Amino acid sequence: MTNEQIWQAVLGEMEISLSKANFVTWFKDTFISSFSEELVVVGVPNAFVKKWLEEKYHKNILSALEKVTQQRIIKIEYHLENKKQSNSNQHTQPIVNQPAPTNTQIEESPRENTATKNVYNRFGLNPKYVFENFVVGKNNELAYAACQAVVRNLGKAYNPLFIYGGVGLGKTHLLQAIGNEASKFTDKILYTTSEKFTNNYIQAVQTGKGKDFKNLYRNVDLLLVDDVQFMGGKDGTQEEFFHTFNELQQGNKQIILTSDRPPKSIPAIEKRLISRFESGMVADVGKPDIETKLAILERKAEEKGFPLDKDVLSFIANHIQNNIRELEGALNRVIVHHQLKNSTPTIRSVKEVLSDLIANIQLKSLTPKEIIETVAKFYDISYKDITGNSRKKELVWPRQISIYLIREELNTSYPTIGQELGGRDHTTAMHAYNKINQEVKEMENERVKQEIESIKQLLAGSVY
Ligand code: ADP
Ligand code: MG
Repeated sequence: MTNEQIWQAVLGEMEISLSKANFVTWFKDTFISSFSEELVVVGVPNAFVKKWLEEKYHKNILSALEKVTQQRIIKIEYHLENKKQSNSNQHTQPIVNQPAPTNTQIEESPRENTATKNVYNRFGLNPKYVFENFVVGKNNELAYAACQAVVRNLGKAYNPLFIYGGVGLGKTHLLQAIGNEASKFTDKILYTTSEKFTNNYIQAVQTGKGKDFKNLYRNVDLLLVDDVQFMGGKDGTQEEFFHTFNELQQGNKQIILTSDRPPKSIPAIEKRLISRFESGMVADVGKPDIETKLAILERKAEEKGFPLDKDVLSFIANHIQNNIRELEGALNRVIVHHQLKNSTPTIRSVKEVLSDLIANIQLKSLTPKEIIETVAKFYDISYKDITGNSRKKELVWPRQISIYLIREELNTSYPTIGQELGGRDHTTAMHAYNKINQEVKEMENERVKQEIESIKQLLAGSVY
């Protein structure tokens, strides 16, 4: 495993648990500079990132590193370093998703290195977001059709086009696909987020460059504004945007907006903007159904050159509920894991790799009896040993662990737990739970935590 592979896998882990904005901010241009069991040095681009990684994400990075490498890491240090470009293989596709662009065409952050620049084209668009790889299902067919219609008739079909829907459901993908498609026949494209628009506007006002700002935004054929809901409550920005909007619309220039909710539901937004937003076409994207999820997974697995069996894909599709970003994150994790191990994914192995994402759903269908059986199996004793009367130390411990897990996973009452454990008193159950809980949460006993984690993984495996 090269350092690069390890870091890609770690980033894959981190990406699942962080918002995209956070992920981009804190992990862009980071890498493993050197690796040994005693010390892992992570290269970071600036002191600000260093501080944040040390203070906020150190624990997550450590556990991701240990998970990925399957070994204990003694120490991680964060050093200010620039990434060397030479040794990376340009032909292999990065496994981890490239983060969404954070800058628009107008100003490029000087810190941006060439590697990141390559990912976005000159319009600030990510070339990977195109119509060709957008999977159409019932949840997004209206929005998709509207986008298609618009891009073929800029300024003439629906103006504006307003796309709304929950996070991770493909709004940015569609918006950028329009931009990428349009870039084949026009240069006057501007992709921005409402936050970026706001920041640029404030900056322009402060530096007396209001005119430049107006010219920039009003001199386009296609204006793409992502996450317009963030304009809520920003009066000056709304005023400016209102005028920009009118000028473009009157000049038959195309405007496309996305939002996490319909125009009327955006808090603290001017009425006249709501009516402008609604004046063209409003289309929503919803959660994908199971067939669409499967089609998306199939597609993405193929794109990454790592096709998976149908039953494995449908296991992932069935267990990742919320949105497509999570679906993709889960798939990436599965692929990275099996690539590193050079093994073929099975339902069992996938279940293990994704256990923390799907554990809740699975454990709900567990019973106390199954937990006791699994604990017994783990300690190589019998079910009767746990529920019986012996006070031998090697039996008392598994008994207490069983009690802890039943309480933790199923939230069963102490009297019932006592019953399940061979008719013990509820105070015994309570005492055992508190004892283990203290080991785990107060004393942070690593060995105990590890044992419990392993048993949980066994549990995850016993249910599906
Ligand atoms: P949003 O902007 O709605 O929060 P994104 O457009 O960022 O969501 O989508 C999240 C991820 O899911 C992206 O990587 C995107 O490519 C992918 N995705 C979403 N919908 C689809 C789809 N229908 N087909 C293929 N990929 C999709
Ligand atoms: Mg988005």
